[in-house]
Amino acid sequence: MREIVVVHFDELALKQGRRPYYEKALVHAIEAVLRDVGPVRIRAAHGRFVVTAGRRALPAGLLIDRLSRVFGIHHLFAGVESARDAASLAAAVVEAARRAAAAEGETPRTFAMRVRGNDREGRARALEIELGSVVAVATGWKVDLHRPDVSLIVELAAGRAFVLHRRVEGPGGLPYATAGQAVALLSGGIDSPVAAAMMMSRGLRIGVVHFHSRPFTSEAALRKVYRLAGALTRWQPTIFGVMVPFAETIQRPLAEGAPTALRTVLARRFMLRIAERLASEHRSRALVTGDALAQVSSQTLENLAVTDSAVGMPVFRPLVGMGKAEIIERARRIGTLAISEEEGDDCCALLAPRNPEKAATVEAIEAAESALPVESMVRSALDSMTRFRVRFEDTDT
Ligand code: ATP
Ligand code: MG
Repeated sequence: MREIVVVHFDELALKQGRRPYYEKALVHAIEAVLRDVGPVRIRAAHGRFVVTAGRRALPAGLLIDRLSRVFGIHHLFAGVESARDAASLAAAVVEAARRAAAAEGETPRTFAMRVRGNDREGRARALEIELGSVVAVATGWKVDLHRPDVSLIVELAAGRAFVLHRRVEGPGGLPYATAGQAVALLSGGIDSPVAAAMMMSRGLRIGVVHFHSRPFTSEAALRKVYRLAGALTRWQPTIFGVMVPFAETIQRPLAEGAPTALRTVLARRFMLRIAERLASEHRSRALVTGDALAQVSSQTLENLAVTDSAVGMPVFRPLVGMGKAEIIERARRIGTLAISEEEGDDCCALLAPRNPEKAATVEAIEAAESALPVESMVRSALDSMTRFRVRFEDTDT
């Protein structure tokens, strides 16, 4: 029996004027997360989509699992498709009950049966009773309309029916790339992958840039960043990235020619400058960082303001008002926490001053930078960068 998933949109319903645009984007996003398992069929009906696997049979639950990570989806129902005659419907509700039981942790004892949708013949009530008793006989479950362990919904459509047995919440947000593109600064830490994923959820297509201090930091630190980007492909199936050598190009000149206490803020300004150049090459219009206000000394209000003044593009900091515990919880949910928590040396620890300036002023920073060959430093970093691409690999379904 063919597995189907019914997709309900999030927020899209509100975007009246641009609705076709968002729907088209959601179709592309759904196709993208299922590309590796072959073509799928997506039918639009009554303000929702019905997704069906193509010819190839897919592992049970794969469709719903993949779709539960597509931004723009509010919730989903897993089910099977059936013809509308009595015998087909009876077979379909038994199959749906079997699938519901397989997806539940404990053996269900109760169920509810509801029939809705296109019911010109006025059969819905009679069908509820008839199909309910089919399920009761096949499973031994009792009917409980208030708090059932399993809820079976028969949706009558033109010429066919869908029997839905499981509701799964989607991530919400807006579909892939509907808001444009941005470059996220991805460190090996906990915060920056969360920030990148949050902006993906608002419809931004995210590219990533990482600054590393090879050969002073380890190869393992680089692998960690690739793996973090890989984990983020659960939310955006293809991610383009750039690795920028930072030690010789930026950190050495700063160590030799800039006041010690300002190094951290100066280094951050260089990161943003380089990221901005990369962004404008790829029609990205914003930068994303994982800064949270006052989490560390480089994140005082003064320092964040001075950091931003190095670039013209908006710098998005979706974590700015969040506490560490909340950020950690989000990292766990998006699947990056375990990777971020592994050992890995950080480029910025390398030359970090013992007493970094907590309230850098524009005047002090400009004076320091006027003694540095800023443009040629930026150029040498860009000249030695390497590009990479990571794609979703199904490791957890
Ligand atoms: P994270 O956990 O994201 O590293 P953090 O709390 O450790 O954040 P910082 O190390 O001060 O904070 O970095 C603040 C932000 O600057 C990061 O969230 C990230 O966006 C960016 N950043 C810092 N170091 C790097 C790096 N080596 N490469 C790319 N971006 C970086
Ligand atoms: Mg960090």
